[in-house]
Amino acid sequence: MYRCCNLRNFLRLLVLDAVAFAVGGLLIVCGKALLTKAEEPVRLPVIMYHSIYTDTPSEYAVSAEQIESDLRWLSENGYTTVTAEQVIDYTRNAGSLPEKSVMITLDDGFYNNMSVLLPLLEKYDMTALVSIVGSYTDNNAVKDPHEPRYSYLTWDDICILSDSGRMEFGNHTYNMHSLHSERVGCSRNEGESEEAYHDTLSDDIQRLQSEFLENIGYVPVVFAYPFGKVSRESLPVIRDSGFLMTLTCCEQPNYITRDPECLYGIGRYNRSGLYSTEEFMRMLFDMGN
Ligand SMILES: [Zn+2]
Repeated sequence: MYRCCNLRNFLRLLVLDAVAFAVGGLLIVCGKALLTKAEEPVRLPVIMYHSIYTDTPSEYAVSAEQIESDLRWLSENGYTTVTAEQVIDYTRNAGSLPEKSVMITLDDGFYNNMSVLLPLLEKYDMTALVSIVGSYTDNNAVKDPHEPRYSYLTWDDICILSDSGRMEFGNHTYNMHSLHSERVGCSRNEGESEEAYHDTLSDDIQRLQSEFLENIGYVPVVFAYPFGKVSRESLPVIRDSGFLMTLTCCEQPNYITRDPECLYGIGRYNRSGLYSTEEFMRMLFDMGN
């Protein structure tokens, strides 16, 4: 009797153990699957535009029809534009990113980014990031604010765009956007001491950050390297200045993870006006994006 009860108990415990083992195993497998899914990097193709005008499309200018055609293509193919803020939040474990994310960026701060693009962003329910050059906005914009081809955004324009919720802004240096001076973009000059370079770069980008704060009430957290000239020595200055993302001109895919470090050196594809939407998108999405 004693043995019989013991055997029954033993069998009961054996069954319970087997059930607990199976449930535990299932939980581990599901947990692992969920963890793996959460850690899968999100592909983020980033498109780089500059000016938008109609008469002579070039490598750095698209027509209004071309950019509208691009936005339509992205929309019809299920892509959702994401802001730098969303991407930064994602790397800090906040929020999620759409499976087919894309980021639209425009460099230099042309007035036509407002006159042409803002209505299109509203039409297609999209967002974009514009990286401005401080000296262009300070010295050139006010002279002729409404010439769609050449003018730059004024601080008033930037305020309007910022309030629209469709555009966010990046720092493209205050006055280091030149290929023709001794320094190329914001790279370090040959023979320049690291300390002198740090001071020069820091003064320049802080000047634009201060103007942002004064005119718009916030400071950008995205830095776009002029001409994509990335200099290794610039990174400590850029980090110390509070930038959380840097944009290059390297045409390469980006894989966004939950690690904020993945945002330094984001690759972008120049949208030349010499291609049709289909040609450009084929090139973009054939390159691992
Ligand atoms: Zn530029």
